[in-house]
Amino acid sequence: MSDSSIQWTDKVWNPVVGCTVKSAGCQNCYAQALAPRLAAMGQPVYEGLKKRHNDGSVNWTGEVRCLPERLSIPLGWRKPARVFVNSMSDLFHESVPDAFIAAVFQTMADTPRHTYQILTKRPERMRAFLDEEEGLGCVAEFTGYPYPLPNVWLGVSTEDQATADERIPLLLQTPAAVRFLSCEPLLGPIAFHNDWLVPTMMVSGMRGEPSLAFSEAITEVGKAVAKKYGVGLIDWVITGGESGPHHRPFDPQWARDIRDQCVAAGVCFFHKQGSGPRPGMNEDLDGRLWRQFPGGSHDA
Ligand code: SF4
Repeated sequence: MSDSSIQWTDKVWNPVVGCTVKSAGCQNCYAQALAPRLAAMGQPVYEGLKKRHNDGSVNWTGEVRCLPERLSIPLGWRKPARVFVNSMSDLFHESVPDAFIAAVFQTMADTPRHTYQILTKRPERMRAFLDEEEGLGCVAEFTGYPYPLPNVWLGVSTEDQATADERIPLLLQTPAAVRFLSCEPLLGPIAFHNDWLVPTMMVSGMRGEPSLAFSEAITEVGKAVAKKYGVGLIDWVITGGESGPHHRPFDPQWARDIRDQCVAAGVCFFHKQGSGPRPGMNEDLDGRLWRQFPGGSHDA
């Protein structure tokens, strides 16, 4: 629960630990590798989250632990920070009760000085939890704050075209102040549909019918989302190759193509790293770091 080495955030906050594999992007899960090390360093909440299975694989046990004692931690951080929620799990994992997710949102609502970044590979549950029309729950009901919360960014991990096609539409159907994609570990090229990359600033303040220009630029899904929530579509895209001893091949051209699509659409883009044995290697992309954050902060 501390300052983070992840370049696109300031701190990590882990009120949930433990997970299960969801897709190919999970194969060399950093959280799964880190959990036993944290346990060995004296953090018992991480003990027993990983084991050797009968087929010889070493993987999560499947246990997911919700830690109520960690819910209040961000209240103690006085300085505003970008906070990555659950780097050691997935907040929308099927084992996390609705009431606990709501408690996480309560903390975020109570600390508007922080910006929270929630990333999931389970956007179907995120949508179900946050879209009142799906009926599973609404943050406003639990917390008393109107939703979307302005300080909560929602994102999905998309490692290839198939996961992009599956997860991005679900993200777009979920109300959020800012939506983002983490294309890391990037395992193949991704071509975005032209109705996915319309930044919030292009439609900010819009309520009711989209403008004619906007209507012409996007398809029915995008229009429906913008009309319903008065917000834009994807605001930010992060790319990165896989790190670690078992890193898989990464072609920088995949990231360049995504960057070019973002630049053409006016969407913020952040390239985190190439692939290699250590995190953070080969950060440049055509001689530029390409680190842009929603809200106008540009490091590049
Ligand atoms: S969803 Fe995230 S935390 Fe869970 S196994 Fe996959 S990469 Fe790891």
